[in-house]
Amino acid sequence: MSHDSFPDTIGAIGNTPLIRLNHLSDETGCEILGKAEFMNPGGSVKDRAALGIVRDAEARGLLRPGGTIVEGTAGNTGIGLAVVGNCLGYETVIVMPDNQSQDKIDTLKSYGPRVELVPAVPLKDPNHFTKVSERIAAELNERDPGSAIWANQFNNTANRAWHERTTGTEIWEQTGGRIDAFICSVGTGGTLAGIARALKARRPGVVIGLADPTGSALYNYYVHGELKAEGSSITEGIGNSRITDNLEGTPIDRAYRIPDEESIPLVYDLIRREGLSLGGSTGVNVAGAVRLARELGPGHVIVTILCDGAMRYRARLFNRAFLAERGLALPDWLQLD
Ligand code: PMP
Repeated sequence: MSHDSFPDTIGAIGNTPLIRLNHLSDETGCEILGKAEFMNPGGSVKDRAALGIVRDAEARGLLRPGGTIVEGTAGNTGIGLAVVGNCLGYETVIVMPDNQSQDKIDTLKSYGPRVELVPAVPLKDPNHFTKVSERIAAELNERDPGSAIWANQFNNTANRAWHERTTGTEIWEQTGGRIDAFICSVGTGGTLAGIARALKARRPGVVIGLADPTGSALYNYYVHGELKAEGSSITEGIGNSRITDNLEGTPIDRAYRIPDEESIPLVYDLIRREGLSLGGSTGVNVAGAVRLARELGPGHVIVTILCDGAMRYRARLFNRAFLAERGLALPDWLQLD
Protein backbone atom coordinates (compact mmCIF):
# COMPACT_ATOMS: atom_id res chain seq x y z
CA MET A 1 0.00 0.00 0.00
CA SER A 2 1.31 3.41 -0.84
CA HIS A 3 0.28 6.82 0.36
CA ASP A 4 2.54 8.72 -1.98
CA SER A 5 1.54 11.85 -3.83
CA PHE A 6 -0.88 11.46 -6.71
CA PRO A 7 -1.23 13.39 -9.97
CA ASP A 8 -4.93 13.94 -9.24
CA THR A 9 -7.79 13.04 -6.91
CA ILE A 10 -8.59 9.94 -8.99
CA GLY A 11 -5.24 8.49 -7.91
CA ALA A 12 -6.34 8.75 -4.28
CA ILE A 13 -9.31 6.41 -4.84
CA GLY A 14 -8.60 2.97 -3.39
CA ASN A 15 -5.50 1.64 -1.64
CA THR A 16 -7.29 2.21 1.65
CA PRO A 17 -5.85 0.99 4.96
CA LEU A 18 -6.96 -2.22 6.66
CA ILE A 19 -7.70 -1.44 10.31
CA ARG A 20 -7.81 -4.02 13.13
CA LEU A 21 -10.97 -3.62 15.19
CA ASN A 22 -9.25 -4.26 18.48
CA HIS A 23 -12.11 -4.78 20.90
CA LEU A 24 -14.16 -7.08 18.70
CA SER A 25 -11.01 -9.00 17.73
CA ASP A 26 -10.05 -9.49 21.36
CA GLU A 27 -13.61 -10.46 22.35
CA THR A 28 -13.97 -13.07 19.61
CA GLY A 29 -10.39 -14.35 19.44
CA CYS A 30 -10.39 -13.65 15.70
CA GLU A 31 -8.61 -10.91 13.80
CA ILE A 32 -11.47 -8.68 12.63
CA LEU A 33 -10.12 -6.22 10.08
CA GLY A 34 -12.00 -3.33 8.45
CA LYS A 35 -11.12 -1.98 5.01
CA ALA A 36 -11.29 1.79 5.47
CA GLU A 37 -13.36 2.74 2.43
CA PHE A 38 -14.64 5.86 4.19
CA MET A 39 -11.15 7.26 3.50
CA ASN A 40 -11.77 7.50 -0.24
CA PRO A 41 -11.95 11.10 -1.57
CA GLY A 42 -15.77 11.04 -1.84
CA GLY A 43 -16.01 9.43 1.59
CA SER A 44 -17.36 6.00 0.67
CA VAL A 45 -16.77 2.61 -0.92
CA LYS A 46 -18.74 3.83 -3.93
CA ASP A 47 -15.90 5.98 -5.29
CA ARG A 48 -14.47 2.72 -6.58
CA ALA A 49 -17.60 1.65 -8.45
CA ALA A 50 -17.93 5.15 -9.91
CA LEU A 51 -14.35 5.09 -11.19
CA GLY A 52 -14.66 1.54 -12.51
CA ILE A 53 -17.83 2.37 -14.44
CA VAL A 54 -16.40 5.58 -15.91
CA ARG A 55 -13.09 3.96 -16.92
CA ASP A 56 -14.98 1.09 -18.57
CA ALA A 57 -17.22 3.49 -20.52
CA GLU A 58 -14.17 5.48 -21.64
CA ALA A 59 -12.37 2.32 -22.74
CA ARG A 60 -15.38 1.27 -24.79
CA GLY A 61 -15.63 4.70 -26.40
CA LEU A 62 -19.04 5.43 -24.87
CA LEU A 63 -18.12 8.55 -22.94
CA ARG A 64 -16.87 11.49 -24.95
CA PRO A 65 -14.92 14.42 -23.48
CA GLY A 66 -17.30 16.70 -21.60
CA GLY A 67 -20.04 14.05 -21.78
CA THR A 68 -22.70 13.45 -19.12
CA ILE A 69 -22.89 10.59 -16.61
CA VAL A 70 -26.44 9.83 -15.41
CA GLU A 71 -27.21 7.56 -12.47
CA GLY A 72 -29.89 6.56 -9.99
CA THR A 73 -28.41 6.10 -6.54
CA ALA A 74 -29.07 6.09 -2.81
CA GLY A 75 -26.42 8.83 -2.73
CA ASN A 76 -22.90 7.52 -2.33
CA THR A 77 -22.52 6.43 -5.95
CA GLY A 78 -23.71 9.90 -6.94
CA ILE A 79 -21.04 11.47 -4.75
CA GLY A 80 -18.43 9.13 -6.25
CA LEU A 81 -19.53 9.92 -9.81
CA ALA A 82 -19.49 13.66 -9.06
CA VAL A 83 -15.95 13.37 -7.67
CA VAL A 84 -14.79 11.42 -10.73
CA GLY A 85 -16.79 13.60 -13.15
CA ASN A 86 -15.45 16.83 -11.68
CA CYS A 87 -11.88 15.55 -11.94
CA LEU A 88 -12.22 14.29 -15.50
CA GLY A 89 -14.48 17.00 -16.93
CA TYR A 90 -17.81 15.15 -17.16
CA GLU A 91 -21.24 16.47 -16.18
CA THR A 92 -23.22 14.40 -13.66
CA VAL A 93 -26.97 13.98 -13.30
CA ILE A 94 -28.02 12.10 -10.17
CA VAL A 95 -31.51 10.73 -9.45
CA MET A 96 -32.06 9.88 -5.81
CA PRO A 97 -35.04 8.57 -3.81
CA ASP A 98 -36.36 11.21 -1.41
CA ASN A 99 -36.28 8.93 1.67
CA GLN A 100 -32.52 9.15 2.15
CA SER A 101 -30.75 11.12 4.87
CA GLN A 102 -30.81 14.86 4.32
CA ASP A 103 -27.14 15.02 5.26
CA LYS A 104 -26.27 12.63 2.43
CA ILE A 105 -28.42 14.60 -0.04
CA ASP A 106 -26.70 17.83 1.05
CA THR A 107 -23.27 16.24 0.71
CA LEU A 108 -24.12 15.09 -2.81
CA LYS A 109 -25.37 18.56 -3.77
CA SER A 110 -22.19 20.15 -2.43
CA TYR A 111 -20.29 18.55 -5.31
CA GLY A 112 -22.48 20.37 -7.84
CA PRO A 113 -24.20 17.67 -9.90
CA ARG A 114 -27.76 18.12 -11.19
CA VAL A 115 -29.79 16.31 -8.52
CA GLU A 116 -33.33 15.00 -9.08
CA LEU A 117 -35.15 13.77 -5.98
CA VAL A 118 -37.97 11.35 -6.79
CA PRO A 119 -40.50 9.61 -4.53
CA ALA A 120 -39.29 6.28 -3.13
CA VAL A 121 -41.39 3.64 -4.94
CA PRO A 122 -40.95 -0.13 -5.49
CA LEU A 123 -38.57 -1.29 -8.21
CA LYS A 124 -41.37 -2.39 -10.53
CA ASP A 125 -42.80 1.15 -10.60
CA PRO A 126 -41.82 3.01 -13.82
CA ASN A 127 -40.87 5.99 -11.64
CA HIS A 128 -38.33 4.08 -9.54
CA PHE A 129 -35.13 6.15 -9.30
CA THR A 130 -33.15 3.72 -11.43
CA LYS A 131 -35.72 3.87 -14.25
CA VAL A 132 -35.96 7.67 -14.12
CA SER A 133 -32.17 7.87 -14.47
CA GLU A 134 -32.21 5.46 -17.41
CA ARG A 135 -34.86 7.62 -19.13
CA ILE A 136 -32.91 10.85 -18.56
CA ALA A 137 -29.81 9.30 -20.17
CA ALA A 138 -31.92 8.10 -23.13
CA GLU A 139 -33.47 11.56 -23.57
CA LEU A 140 -30.04 13.24 -23.55
CA ASN A 141 -28.85 10.78 -26.20
CA GLU A 142 -31.95 11.33 -28.32
CA ARG A 143 -31.26 15.06 -28.39
CA ASP A 144 -27.51 14.68 -28.87
CA PRO A 145 -26.42 11.12 -29.75
CA GLY A 146 -23.45 9.86 -27.73
CA SER A 147 -23.65 12.71 -25.22
CA ALA A 148 -24.53 10.65 -22.14
CA ILE A 149 -24.07 7.31 -20.44
CA TRP A 150 -26.32 5.60 -17.91
CA ALA A 151 -23.95 4.26 -15.25
CA ASN A 152 -26.40 1.47 -14.30
CA GLN A 153 -24.45 0.47 -11.18
CA PHE A 154 -26.78 -2.42 -10.28
CA ASN A 155 -26.38 -4.36 -13.54
CA ASN A 156 -23.21 -2.90 -15.04
CA THR A 157 -20.58 -5.47 -14.07
CA ALA A 158 -17.77 -2.93 -14.53
CA ASN A 159 -18.72 -2.21 -10.90
CA ARG A 160 -17.81 -5.65 -9.57
CA ALA A 161 -14.86 -6.00 -11.98
CA TRP A 162 -13.25 -2.89 -10.48
CA HIS A 163 -13.70 -4.28 -6.96
CA GLU A 164 -12.20 -7.58 -8.06
CA ARG A 165 -9.20 -5.82 -9.56
CA THR A 166 -8.66 -3.30 -6.76
CA THR A 167 -10.42 -3.91 -3.42
CA GLY A 168 -10.18 -7.71 -3.47
CA THR A 169 -6.57 -7.70 -4.61
CA GLU A 170 -5.64 -5.11 -1.97
CA ILE A 171 -7.23 -7.21 0.78
CA TRP A 172 -5.30 -10.29 -0.34
CA GLU A 173 -2.05 -8.36 -0.38
CA GLN A 174 -2.65 -6.49 2.87
CA THR A 175 -3.32 -9.73 4.73
CA GLY A 176 -0.38 -11.46 3.03
CA GLY A 177 -2.88 -14.09 1.89
CA ARG A 178 -3.68 -14.91 5.52
CA ILE A 179 -7.42 -14.39 5.26
CA ASP A 180 -10.03 -16.97 6.25
CA ALA A 181 -13.24 -15.08 5.56
CA PHE A 182 -14.73 -11.95 4.05
CA ILE A 183 -18.19 -10.62 4.78
CA CYS A 184 -20.21 -7.52 3.89
CA SER A 185 -23.67 -6.29 3.00
CA VAL A 186 -25.01 -5.84 -0.51
CA GLY A 187 -26.55 -2.88 -2.31
CA THR A 188 -25.61 -3.41 -5.93
CA GLY A 189 -23.47 -6.37 -4.85
CA GLY A 190 -20.40 -4.96 -6.62
CA THR A 191 -18.29 -4.91 -3.47
CA LEU A 192 -19.12 -8.42 -2.23
CA ALA A 193 -19.10 -10.02 -5.69
CA GLY A 194 -15.81 -8.44 -6.78
CA ILE A 195 -13.97 -9.18 -3.56
CA ALA A 196 -15.38 -12.73 -3.39
CA ARG A 197 -14.07 -13.44 -6.88
CA ALA A 198 -10.63 -12.00 -6.16
CA LEU A 199 -10.26 -14.04 -2.96
CA LYS A 200 -11.74 -17.34 -4.17
CA ALA A 201 -9.48 -17.22 -7.26
CA ARG A 202 -6.46 -17.11 -4.95
CA ARG A 203 -7.75 -19.47 -2.27
CA PRO A 204 -11.05 -21.31 -2.88
CA GLY A 205 -11.39 -22.07 0.85
CA VAL A 206 -11.91 -18.43 1.84
CA VAL A 207 -15.39 -18.23 3.39
CA ILE A 208 -17.62 -15.59 1.82
CA GLY A 209 -20.43 -14.21 3.98
CA LEU A 210 -23.42 -11.98 3.33
CA ALA A 211 -24.60 -9.63 6.08
CA ASP A 212 -28.12 -8.65 5.10
CA PRO A 213 -30.19 -6.03 6.96
CA THR A 214 -33.81 -6.71 7.84
CA GLY A 215 -36.06 -5.43 5.04
CA SER A 216 -33.84 -7.03 2.39
CA ALA A 217 -34.80 -10.19 0.49
CA LEU A 218 -31.29 -11.59 0.02
CA TYR A 219 -30.92 -13.52 3.28
CA ASN A 220 -34.01 -15.57 2.51
CA TYR A 221 -32.79 -16.14 -1.03
CA TYR A 222 -29.43 -17.58 0.00
CA VAL A 223 -30.75 -19.56 2.96
CA HIS A 224 -34.22 -20.64 1.78
CA GLY A 225 -34.07 -20.10 -1.99
CA GLU A 226 -36.82 -17.49 -1.96
CA LEU A 227 -36.50 -13.72 -2.52
CA LYS A 228 -38.59 -12.58 0.43
CA ALA A 229 -38.14 -9.46 2.57
CA GLU A 230 -39.14 -9.25 6.22
CA GLY A 231 -39.05 -6.25 8.56
CA SER A 232 -37.31 -2.95 7.87
CA SER A 233 -34.10 -1.08 8.69
CA ILE A 234 -32.83 2.46 9.16
CA THR A 235 -29.60 1.54 7.37
CA GLU A 236 -29.13 3.04 3.89
CA GLY A 237 -27.50 1.95 0.65
CA ILE A 238 -27.82 -1.76 1.39
CA GLY A 239 -30.36 -4.54 0.99
CA ASN A 240 -32.07 -5.56 -2.22
CA SER A 241 -35.20 -7.28 -3.49
CA ARG A 242 -33.51 -8.90 -6.45
CA ILE A 243 -30.32 -10.59 -7.66
CA THR A 244 -28.52 -7.93 -9.69
CA ASP A 245 -26.18 -8.80 -12.56
CA ASN A 246 -23.32 -7.78 -10.27
CA LEU A 247 -24.43 -10.19 -7.52
CA GLU A 248 -25.33 -13.04 -9.88
CA GLY A 249 -23.04 -16.05 -9.48
CA THR A 250 -21.33 -14.85 -6.30
CA PRO A 251 -20.07 -17.80 -4.23
CA ILE A 252 -21.79 -17.04 -0.90
CA ASP A 253 -21.08 -19.61 1.82
CA ARG A 254 -22.91 -18.06 4.80
CA ALA A 255 -25.69 -15.50 5.13
CA TYR A 256 -26.88 -13.67 8.23
CA ARG A 257 -29.89 -11.44 8.77
CA ILE A 258 -28.83 -8.47 10.89
CA PRO A 259 -31.53 -6.43 12.65
CA ASP A 260 -30.98 -2.75 13.56
CA GLU A 261 -30.95 -3.71 17.26
CA GLU A 262 -27.71 -5.56 16.52
CA SER A 263 -26.04 -3.24 13.96
CA ILE A 264 -26.81 0.23 15.34
CA PRO A 265 -25.32 -0.33 18.84
CA LEU A 266 -22.16 -1.50 17.05
CA VAL A 267 -22.03 1.88 15.27
CA TYR A 268 -21.76 3.57 18.68
CA ASP A 269 -19.30 0.94 19.94
CA LEU A 270 -17.00 1.66 17.01
CA ILE A 271 -17.06 5.36 17.86
CA ARG A 272 -16.47 4.85 21.57
CA ARG A 273 -13.96 2.02 21.48
CA GLU A 274 -12.13 2.40 18.16
CA GLY A 275 -12.52 6.11 17.37
CA LEU A 276 -14.30 5.23 14.11
CA SER A 277 -17.45 7.25 13.34
CA LEU A 278 -19.18 5.25 10.59
CA GLY A 279 -22.61 4.73 9.04
CA GLY A 280 -25.26 2.07 9.56
CA SER A 281 -24.15 -0.21 6.74
CA THR A 282 -20.80 -0.53 8.48
CA GLY A 283 -22.68 -1.59 11.61
CA VAL A 284 -24.32 -4.37 9.60
CA ASN A 285 -20.97 -5.41 8.12
CA VAL A 286 -19.23 -5.51 11.50
CA ALA A 287 -22.17 -7.38 13.05
CA GLY A 288 -21.78 -9.92 10.25
CA ALA A 289 -18.05 -10.24 10.95
CA VAL A 290 -18.79 -10.90 14.63
CA ARG A 291 -21.39 -13.57 13.76
CA LEU A 292 -18.91 -15.21 11.41
CA ALA A 293 -16.18 -15.05 14.08
CA ARG A 294 -18.46 -16.82 16.56
CA GLU A 295 -19.39 -19.46 13.98
CA LEU A 296 -15.85 -20.14 12.75
CA GLY A 297 -14.34 -19.96 16.25
CA PRO A 298 -11.16 -18.24 17.49
CA GLY A 299 -8.00 -17.93 15.41
CA HIS A 300 -9.48 -16.78 12.10
CA VAL A 301 -8.78 -13.66 10.07
CA ILE A 302 -12.03 -12.00 8.98
CA VAL A 303 -12.20 -8.90 6.79
CA THR A 304 -15.14 -6.55 6.26
CA ILE A 305 -15.83 -3.10 4.81
CA LEU A 306 -15.99 0.24 6.66
CA CYS A 307 -18.27 1.91 4.10
CA ASP A 308 -18.78 5.59 4.95
CA GLY A 309 -18.96 8.11 7.77
CA ALA A 310 -21.69 8.48 10.41
CA MET A 311 -22.16 12.21 9.86
CA ARG A 312 -23.70 11.41 6.47
CA TYR A 313 -26.63 10.11 8.60
CA ARG A 314 -26.45 12.64 11.40
CA ALA A 315 -30.18 13.41 11.51
CA ARG A 316 -30.91 9.74 12.14
CA LEU A 317 -27.96 8.11 13.90
CA PHE A 318 -27.60 10.97 16.39
CA ASN A 319 -31.29 11.78 16.85
CA ARG A 320 -32.70 10.40 20.10
CA ALA A 321 -36.36 10.84 19.09
CA PHE A 322 -35.90 9.24 15.66
CA LEU A 323 -34.13 6.27 17.24
CA ALA A 324 -36.68 5.89 20.05
CA GLU A 325 -39.53 5.57 17.53
CA ARG A 326 -37.72 2.53 16.17
CA GLY A 327 -36.91 0.97 19.52
CA LEU A 328 -33.28 2.08 19.35
CA ALA A 329 -31.36 4.26 21.80
CA LEU A 330 -28.53 6.76 21.74
CA PRO A 331 -25.92 5.85 24.33
CA ASP A 332 -25.69 8.17 27.35
CA TRP A 333 -22.12 9.24 26.60
CA LEU A 334 -23.21 10.80 23.29
CA GLN A 335 -24.53 14.34 23.70
CA LEU A 336 -25.34 15.03 20.10
CA ASP A 337 -29.06 15.88 19.98
N1 PMP B 1 -22.81 0.88 2.26
C1 PMP B 1 -23.18 2.07 1.79
C2 PMP B 1 -23.24 3.23 2.74
C3 PMP B 1 -23.52 2.24 0.44
O1 PMP B 1 -23.90 3.44 -0.03
C4 PMP B 1 -23.47 1.11 -0.40
C5 PMP B 1 -23.82 1.23 -1.86
N2 PMP B 1 -25.15 1.48 -2.16
C6 PMP B 1 -23.10 -0.14 0.12
C7 PMP B 1 -22.76 -0.20 1.47
C8 PMP B 1 -23.12 -1.40 -0.70
O2 PMP B 1 -22.16 -1.49 -1.71
P1 PMP B 1 -22.46 -2.27 -3.06
O3 PMP B 1 -23.36 -1.40 -3.89
O4 PMP B 1 -21.12 -2.46 -3.68
O5 PMP B 1 -23.13 -3.56 -2.75
